[in-house]
Amino acid sequence: MIISCGIIGLPNIGKSTLFNYLTSNNIKAENYPFCTITQHVGTIKIFNNKLNTLSNIINNKQTIYQTMSFIDIAGLVKGSNNGEGLGNQFLSNIKNVQTICHLVRCFEDKQISHIDTTINPIRDIKTIETELILADYSFIEKKIKKDKKNTKFISYCKQLLKHLNKGSKAQTFKYDKTNHELSKYINDMNLLTNKPNYFIANVNLNTMLGKSNTHLNNVKNFLKNRNDNIYSICANIATKSSYATNKKTYNYLINKTKYTIKDIIEKNLKLLNLITYLTIGKKEIKAWIIRKNTNAIQAAKMIHNDIQQGFIKSDVIHWKDFIKYKSIIKCKRAGIVKLKGKTYKIQNGDIIYFRFNI
Ligand code: GDP
Repeated sequence: MIISCGIIGLPNIGKSTLFNYLTSNNIKAENYPFCTITQHVGTIKIFNNKLNTLSNIINNKQTIYQTMSFIDIAGLVKGSNNGEGLGNQFLSNIKNVQTICHLVRCFEDKQISHIDTTINPIRDIKTIETELILADYSFIEKKIKKDKKNTKFISYCKQLLKHLNKGSKAQTFKYDKTNHELSKYINDMNLLTNKPNYFIANVNLNTMLGKSNTHLNNVKNFLKNRNDNIYSICANIATKSSYATNKKTYNYLINKTKYTIKDIIEKNLKLLNLITYLTIGKKEIKAWIIRKNTNAIQAAKMIHNDIQQGFIKSDVIHWKDFIKYKSIIKCKRAGIVKLKGKTYKIQNGDIIYFRFNI
């Protein structure tokens, strides 16, 4: 399963800096808007505590992690949906990601210009969200014209247009979610404002060290009203360049950073309703990422069609139990290995041995 997260926000707020930190890249992070003109993609291993622990116990096998991509999506400004800034292509880049990390500038620095001159994160959030809403609006308008004959869902599209017109995101559009056909229709539109998203505040180091930050407090209150929250990071400090300059300072500061790469990965998995299970093969131990409520037969198919077709049963051990006994044989002797059938819903942290016959 490929997981991709797009980093969005106004120009010159630290998107490329954050991207570099997350993906250990070294793309240009310059103090002028539109420094980034093409999208950058960086792929990282999905940190997995359970897999790391297993790998320490079974150290004669290769450890295989899943990966996820971050995409630095630059160029969004007021009017992007009309081709302003770097135009519409950036909106289409957002179409291709699964989650959106909305970065918000909450740091003051006279040396770093802001496209709207002053620091005002709430205004910035509204600017970006308006562009996304407008892009969705024109997408649905076109769809209505195209799908004229599909009378079944047109009325929902019109209601959705009204909803967007009020400045609300598609995420908050209320409709009958038990109507699977309608849900599928709406999800298949892949609307920008229907994607799972989260906010990160880019703050200066003194905020990380506990100094009060009015911009951050304002934006926290603003998002609280929507039942949303924001995490803080000091992207500048977190990047590799700081690491290269002074490892000791870097380690100290990174410990102070409340929101780390591991947290950001976990946030993405949670937003997408994903869990991890593990397999221990002859040569490798591997983490697999699946949607919650996936059953054993579907998970088997993800590994190989043969395993699905010849599926007999699966042996299931929770990784914490495995750690106690340290081998499958000892787990079996202790009677903690459960035998499960095709419909077993895989749990986060299960170790699965598929029994199959081809
Ligand atoms: P982007 O246009 O949003 O991708 O922004 P960049 O990552 O290129 O950063 C723009 C400028 O802001 C660069 O000079 C960065 O070094 C600087 N910058 C990024 N994060 C921070 C931060 O947390 N504090 C300060 N003071 N400057 C930052």
